[in-house]
Amino acid sequence: PPALQARGLGVRLGGHRVLDSVEVVVASGEVHALIGPNGAGKSTFIDAVTGFLPAYEGTIRVGGAPIDPLSASARALGGVRRTFQQSRVNGSSTVDEYLRLAAGSRSPSSIPLVRELFGLPEGRLPIRLMDAGSRRILEVAGALAARPRLLLLDEPAAGLDDAVSRELAAVLRGIPAEFDCAVLVIEHDMEFVRAAASRTTVLDEGRIVGSGPTSEILRDPRVIAAYLGKGGGA
Ligand code: ADP
Ligand code: MG
Ligand code: MG
Repeated sequence: PPALQARGLGVRLGGHRVLDSVEVVVASGEVHALIGPNGAGKSTFIDAVTGFLPAYEGTIRVGGAPIDPLSASARALGGVRRTFQQSRVNGSSTVDEYLRLAAGSRSPSSIPLVRELFGLPEGRLPIRLMDAGSRRILEVAGALAARPRLLLLDEPAAGLDDAVSRELAAVLRGIPAEFDCAVLVIEHDMEFVRAAASRTTVLDEGRIVGSGPTSEILRDPRVIAAYLGKGGGA
């Protein structure tokens, strides 16, 4: 079964249909990009999958099993992990403490793995003394340290230096094989999308505009008309 399958998903916010009959399939072993203009509903999609927002119609399956009745925390414990568009990583705790908390008691062995993979500093550095880019990377590392089956990343490369962004794209591409985890990543930088994701889905005004192999999607005239032709924009 696919790592993630959303069928006919609908979400309303403030009387407005923010997601309408949305279909998304992320195969297991895949890094999948979700792109589209600002306000398209990309973050809302992650909110619905992770249980932060209720869907009024449709079903969401993870590894073939419907997760609709589950709370956000039950979904997280079941291996559905996310990061946020606005980083929530800050404060006086150290990198070590953050990773230990994120990994939980079930997967402490993943800490050295993710530390190495993301090039995180060892030891007692307080998170608030790290630059914004490093805190963003730490949030992704923490989500992965929990050993999820499905990792949902909301603009992880936003604000990163070009070199760091390229490195992150390469790391993401390797996650399914290394961690047995599928990845859905929202991103606006098409160079990043090309480097990280084998397949891409495009959302515009709450509806799916296209989905397929990344190289084909980024050449699709409908996608260019709906999004890339507008010049993107976060
Ligand atoms: P994206 O991540 O693609 O930029 P979002 O999922 O953040 O888009 O937002 C999709 C739409 O939902 C936007 O039109 C936004 O204004 C609207 N929206 C987001 N959150 C709320 C909310 N709490 N109440 C009402 N409308 C909202
Ligand atoms: Mg946005
Ligand atoms: Mg967003």
